[in-house]
Amino acid sequence: MAATLRQRLVRLTDQFHRRSLKLAGVYLAIIMTISIFFSAMVFQLSTQELSRGLRGPGPGGANGGNGGIGVIERGPESLLPQSLRDAIAQDRQSRYEEARSRVLNRLVVINLFILVGAGVLSYYFAARTLKPIEEANAALERFTADASHELRTPLAAMRSEIEVALMNPDLKLPEAKHILESNLEELEKLTALSEGLLKLARQDAGHFRRERVAIDDIIQAAVDKAAPLAQAKQIKLRLPQPSNLHVTGDSVSLAEVLFILLDNAIKYSPTGKSVKIEFSQKQKQAVIQVADQGIGIRASELPHIFERFYRADKSRASRSEGAAEGYGIGLALAKHIVELHGGTISVQSQSGVGSVFAVALPSTL
Ligand code: ADP
Repeated sequence: MAATLRQRLVRLTDQFHRRSLKLAGVYLAIIMTISIFFSAMVFQLSTQELSRGLRGPGPGGANGGNGGIGVIERGPESLLPQSLRDAIAQDRQSRYEEARSRVLNRLVVINLFILVGAGVLSYYFAARTLKPIEEANAALERFTADASHELRTPLAAMRSEIEVALMNPDLKLPEAKHILESNLEELEKLTALSEGLLKLARQDAGHFRRERVAIDDIIQAAVDKAAPLAQAKQIKLRLPQPSNLHVTGDSVSLAEVLFILLDNAIKYSPTGKSVKIEFSQKQKQAVIQVADQGIGIRASELPHIFERFYRADKSRASRSEGAAEGYGIGLALAKHIVELHGGTISVQSQSGVGSVFAVALPSTL
């Protein structure tokens, strides 16, 4: 398992480097095309200027004509003897060649520097551009792998039960009923899981209504849904006094958050305990708290409980009698919804004592 994880990590890192290199190559090609184009222009202009400067004014003209650099047609130098004029012309030609090759060398060196510098920068920016995309891809890959793993387990259980039953020629009605009941249980789990996954996939800011919602209404909606669960475990739900606090957001999603917290509080509490809902206002924030007297969460597990598919130690969870096995989606969904509303969700818990979950949302007047 650890080896596969490591292999996956190596493969992802490898892919990331390859993609970054490709993108850096494109960036570099663009930069070098521009740089070489400008260098060619600079070279062209500077050789023209050099040739004009060394030729001096005359009918050879600014653009060279046919005279060549050293040919002096007019001016005081035309009075000099031919041999001297040839020597001067030769000297000018060689100075021109020298200057030309110096310009060329410098341009080549500058371009080499640009190549190296731009190469490093291109890779840096390519990696920076690709990182969030790669992270989103990796998260999606992880999510798909986790989700299919979670779906496979109950499906495999159902399949093997049905196969064993079909192979038994003396299958009695009570046994068949028992198998059907067990399959129904697995189906209910699968339904809950697929609903959770769908909700998680659908939650994005675009789906939310932004309306003024009374905290009292959110609490009431969640409590109405959780009341039968609490009743089944003889757990008392203690509600706060009505308030006049409001938040901006989607009332259905916010009630869903509170229901997830209440459902967990009931699920992970022994029969007969109580669950208390409180709220307060702190610095323009409405804070709703759900406190239980349940099994609590170990300090080592606290940082992970908001991760998708994370479930704390099952043996502990099942110590609370009647605790339904979940899929570790509830808190991830709650966190996602709260964050899309600009809020935060946090937890304080002590193993064996209980947990307090707090949702802080920007309050509206
Ligand atoms: P699940 O469907 O497993 O309850 P959640 O995402 O809602 O998934 O919770 C993740 C884990 O956090 C649970 O498996 C449980 O171990 C722990 N947890 C959540 N709420 C509580 C609570 N009120 N008391 C104790 N443990 C809790």
